Amino acid sequence: MNTNASASNDASSSPGSTRVALVTGASRGIGAEIAARLAADGFAVVVNYAGEVASAEALVAKISEAGAKALAVQADVRAPNEVRRLFEAAESAFGGVDVLVNNAGIMSLSPIAETDDATFDRQIAVNLKGSFNTMREAAKRLRRGGRIINLSSSVVGLLQPTYAAYAATKAGVEAMTKILAKELRGREIAVNAVAPGPTATDLFMKAKSAEVVERLAKLAPLERLGQPEDIARVVSFLAGPDASWVNGQVLRANGGII
Ligand code: NDP
Repeated sequence: MNTNASASNDASSSPGSTRVALVTGASRGIGAEIAARLAADGFAVVVNYAGEVASAEALVAKISEAGAKALAVQADVRAPNEVRRLFEAAESAFGGVDVLVNNAGIMSLSPIAETDDATFDRQIAVNLKGSFNTMREAAKRLRRGGRIINLSSSVVGLLQPTYAAYAATKAGVEAMTKILAKELRGREIAVNAVAPGPTATDLFMKAKSAEVVERLAKLAPLERLGQPEDIARVVSFLAGPDASWVNGQVLRANGGII
């Protein structure tokens, strides 16, 4: 695991004084927008990534230029030891973690009859086990008053053909969200999920024709694709003071698609 700190501020000078958010899969797409938004909200931000080091470091540089603290940390959420080191890197740079955003995810679509074992296992490993790995560390380490925000998907409600394996991972994430909210009783930590609808990122656009994208964009009554900013705003709300009474919930942010 490489730990690349490009923060303009001396993060270690005042450990614990700034609220700290750790965003998994923040090198691009929704996660990058969430990291930028939480930094603008005043959080010191850990930008986790799997492989896209250049994008993660560019985001850290952008956040640092705007005067906030950020740190890029490579870690594969599938691996429990890498997730532990991710939290340790956050703690040693910023003194602790207050908010975990479980955003890292992958999606492969195919009918069940045509889904091979590797495709199924890969989605379980990243989306479900990866979320479990980070939630387990967060449950042990998050400071009092913290928040855990998991990325689910509106496909858990839509249940379209070809989404079985992916939707199953997100249904599991929703179940763990509600259970962990109860397990953290007494710690003043809220656990919620955001379930976006179709959102304009690589994950959604990959392998879809312009026609399919257009059709899916029109499904919601608001008749457009979600943008990463639409989701980052919801995460910002759940991470902030106005959501202090929201716990164990799944918030679908999808233009009304379901
Ligand atoms: P993108 O494909 O744009 O980005 C995925 C991010 O996850 C990247 O930063 C990638 O890192 C990271 N990642 C992938 N695998 C791992 C891993 N093993 N360990 C650590 N990081 C990893 O996806 P989106 O932004 O679209 O999706 C973000 C989340 O939102 C996902 O959980 C997705 O399921 C969910 N979602 C997305 C929707 C959409 O329409 N886009 C709709 C509903 C939910 P790197 O680039 O460094 O490899």
